[in-house]
Amino acid sequence: MFQAVLEKPKTIVFREVAVPEPGKDEVLIKVSRIGICGSDIHVYHGKHKYATLPVVQGHEGSGTIAKVGAGVTNFTVGEQVTIRPQLFCGECIMCQKGRNNLCLDYKVIGVLGSTIGMASEYFLIKASLVHKLPKGMTLDQGAMVEPAAVAVHSVKLGAAPAGNNTLVVGAGPIGNLVAQAAKALGAGKVVLVDISQQRLELAKQCGIDVCVNSKDRNLADIIEEQFGSNGADVIIDCAGAVPLMEQMVQAARRGTNIVLTGNYYDKVPVELGLVQRREINLVGVMNYVAEDYEDTIRFIASGAIKLELLMSKYFDIKEYSEAYQYIDENMAQVMKVLLKVGD
Ligand SMILES: [Zn+2]
Ligand SMILES: [Zn+2]
Repeated sequence: MFQAVLEKPKTIVFREVAVPEPGKDEVLIKVSRIGICGSDIHVYHGKHKYATLPVVQGHEGSGTIAKVGAGVTNFTVGEQVTIRPQLFCGECIMCQKGRNNLCLDYKVIGVLGSTIGMASEYFLIKASLVHKLPKGMTLDQGAMVEPAAVAVHSVKLGAAPAGNNTLVVGAGPIGNLVAQAAKALGAGKVVLVDISQQRLELAKQCGIDVCVNSKDRNLADIIEEQFGSNGADVIIDCAGAVPLMEQMVQAARRGTNIVLTGNYYDKVPVELGLVQRREINLVGVMNYVAEDYEDTIRFIASGAIKLELLMSKYFDIKEYSEAYQYIDENMAQVMKVLLKVGD
């Protein structure tokens, strides 16, 4: 079978390798779709702080069960599935607390060179990291469960009880999904801000209540205009833009939760005194846990989270490099590019 390897930055090489045999508690998946996400793009350009090359990418994917190993009783050949691309020890202090995404030996499949992602014809994985797609859900949708699960996890960490005023900063794929997930999890008014009118229009079509262009505007003003003097209960940052973080802290009310879903690679100056006096909760986000996946699949199946409008373009896996080139050239507009690997 073929396998696509990112040998060095901007260089994808296809090689022939043997189809792996599933061992105990493993399944072999015939890969259908792979999504390319922001972190893949950073890895591709050699700019991801924690990735190592060479690596077989592909951590957002779907496919069909091709073979099951000994001891696997909950999957049968032909079932459509998605994978949860996280490796954890199952024994450390954080795994014991059920927070596998914070395992002391945590790895995301397809980002670290020591792991193998889904960019190949067949893919071998532990059955415990595989989730079934319910009837009616497409393999395209299946490939987007992973980013949507990040969104669901983010909203839960922001303590998403019913009725919360929620501000989402950044209307890229994750911000869009966070805003949708906030609605799905029962938030009150959800306001999404970005400087791209195109992304805001798309979010509107996805059913987000209020989409506001924040170009030349201050987040505090937008919060006051949209939520009145009650302010925002939760601010979810999906932009990862250094100057915006200080604005978020300034714009936070007493007791606001600020959820950090966007990636920061630089140090961010913020007025910590405000965090202290206002009891602002700054919460980090790292991926998701199994339960988030199950919730996400349910939300997608019910239509509470809509993915179709986010699927910008498809490429055949053989056009892997062209797909990245397209992303580079259309960075401002592109949402999700999917690679077609098989049917
Ligand atoms: Zn991703
Ligand atoms: Zn662990």
